[in-house]
Amino acid sequence: MTTRLSPLELMEKLVSFPTVSRDSNLPLVDWVEDYLTGHGIVCHRHYREDNEQAALFAHVGPEVEGGVILSGHTDVVPVDGQPWASDPFTVTERDGKYFGRGTCDMKGFDALALWALVEAKYQGVTRPLQIALSYDEEVGCVGAPPMIRAMQGPIPRASAVIVGEPSEMRAVTGHKGGIGIVTNIVGFEVHSSLMHTGVNAIMEAAKIIDWTNQVNAEEMAREPDELAAMFEPPWTLGHVGTIQGGTANNITAKDCRFTLGYRVVPSQSAEDWRDRYIAKLREVEAEMKKIRPEARIDFEQAFDVPGLVPEEDGAAEALARRLTGDNGTHVVSYGTEAGQFQAAGYSAVICGPGSIEQAHQPDEFISVAQFNAGHDFMKALLRELA
Ligand SMILES: [Zn+2]
Repeated sequence: MTTRLSPLELMEKLVSFPTVSRDSNLPLVDWVEDYLTGHGIVCHRHYREDNEQAALFAHVGPEVEGGVILSGHTDVVPVDGQPWASDPFTVTERDGKYFGRGTCDMKGFDALALWALVEAKYQGVTRPLQIALSYDEEVGCVGAPPMIRAMQGPIPRASAVIVGEPSEMRAVTGHKGGIGIVTNIVGFEVHSSLMHTGVNAIMEAAKIIDWTNQVNAEEMAREPDELAAMFEPPWTLGHVGTIQGGTANNITAKDCRFTLGYRVVPSQSAEDWRDRYIAKLREVEAEMKKIRPEARIDFEQAFDVPGLVPEEDGAAEALARRLTGDNGTHVVSYGTEAGQFQAAGYSAVICGPGSIEQAHQPDEFISVAQFNAGHDFMKALLRELA
């Protein structure tokens, strides 16, 4: 029989695995599975296609639907080039704070969730408690959708999801969605003295990018709707983050590649924005082909994270409010897995310890007070499910 670890001991253990998204999370998943299995909890895994990453989910309580999922991700962002005062993969307490990569985002919550699951096993619950630990969250929230699909069947379907991203234990009910597109313009090379006979991929890209600027300006001139008005900024805006292209000063550019992302307010559809963008690509491409039929524009979707829409009488929100006493209205501007659970038909809310301001930073920390508040939340949840 395995010893029961405290939330702090669990966090120390989880942080000790350097599960940066580019590296495998399997050593952490192996350890978690051993620990839970040692307490008589059956674990399920869902592997990424290359078997380098796995999600883990588990169920405690009666074999009935309607339980609560505690959702966290196992991956963390890199520490490369960041000045840390202590080893990022060793939890170090200083000045009322636990320092370490992932303490805030979000292995602190993962540890609390594991603690609660084992306690639920021993104390007994009449309403099920589940845990869902994903991979590849930090590279665009791509690990959760296949995990959510894999959960359908092996364990009874839960009704409410608490995503423990750092919210300082406030009940956050909305976030923007995000969609990213990589555009690759294939022009036609000629000597720049004959540019009217070629297609300059960079100058064609400039047309699309400037159109994006114009659309942004139109959006910002509009009165935001009620839901959009909760966000800062209260519009969907397009943003070009990287661009490469061209060969030489005297050659019309044959290639230009850039990445464009929209952060979409939840009252609008990311698909509509994508379709509008693609229509613009086709319009520019048609003009390019008039000069050189072999010129073209390719694109691929880089990420697609649905927004979290505030629910009317949401079960997850009501639960988080009962447990925290928080009655304020909160939305955040970062994407999470909550929108993906909601898209799969669950009621979802974000509620976790720590502040997003400390996430991804050198000397990332969670305050002892926030970690303890998360512990109190889990105790209250266990009473609720008893
Ligand atoms: Zn996170």
